[in-house]
Amino acid sequence: MRIAFLGAPGSGKGTQAQRLMDRYRIPQVSTGDLLRAAVANATPLGLKAKEAMDAGKLVADEIVIGMLKERLARDDAAGGFILDGYPRNLSQAQALDALLADLGKPLDAVVLFEVPKDELVRRISGRRTCRHCGRVFNVFSSPPAKGERCPKSGGGHDLFQRPDDNEQTVAQRLEVYEQQTKPLVELYGGRGLLERIDATGQLEEVTARLRDALEKERKSAKPAKTTAKKKAKG
Ligand code: ADP
Repeated sequence: MRIAFLGAPGSGKGTQAQRLMDRYRIPQVSTGDLLRAAVANATPLGLKAKEAMDAGKLVADEIVIGMLKERLARDDAAGGFILDGYPRNLSQAQALDALLADLGKPLDAVVLFEVPKDELVRRISGRRTCRHCGRVFNVFSSPPAKGERCPKSGGGHDLFQRPDDNEQTVAQRLEVYEQQTKPLVELYGGRGLLERIDATGQLEEVTARLRDALEKERKSAKPAKTTAKKKAKG
């Protein structure tokens, strides 16, 4: 499965990608995580990216696209991937098309996570990440279970709030989503790839809706792939 998750900041793309990885045995490819790692390692790219991220703006396309190419070339992405937070504008979508066309592996589905704006703001303000294992929690809706241990630190989870999860930056990120990312809904809808899911409610409920949507796509995609193969063989 080659899937992209589309949705506003706080719509739960990362959380659901983490939950789905095991089921489909494909990695979560989060450009946000790749960028945060570059920032943490103070690489030249990371230093450039940090300014845009702190301001809630998109990091320059060439940086993000370069990172994505490198990540998708790794072995674990050969059998599929979940793109989380990419593409975020039209030119990134075009770059992805070109990249996947080169590999002969187009996207199977694009899932749109739908959540009302007031709920997005509430979720983002409660979001906390474990410094060691990267798991995402929410102090309101999904705190770590009592006694739960972080697999990397051995102890409890060491939670921190992302620096771009403050009120002002969040408002800017939501604006960027509306202006630059939302047009992709129409693009992928027109290609028949879009699955909309209601991403409100309990984590498990959203995962179930997501699985249903992906199974539906998988079934409907199979005949098309077989035909394409036959044609290619001539
Ligand atoms: P969220 O979806 O909650 O905004 P992410 O971790 O996906 O969180 O992104 C955090 C920040 O990283 C974004 O605000 C942006 O600055 C940068 N970023 C992530 N993905 C991209 C991308 N595809 N293109 C440009 N910038 C990106």
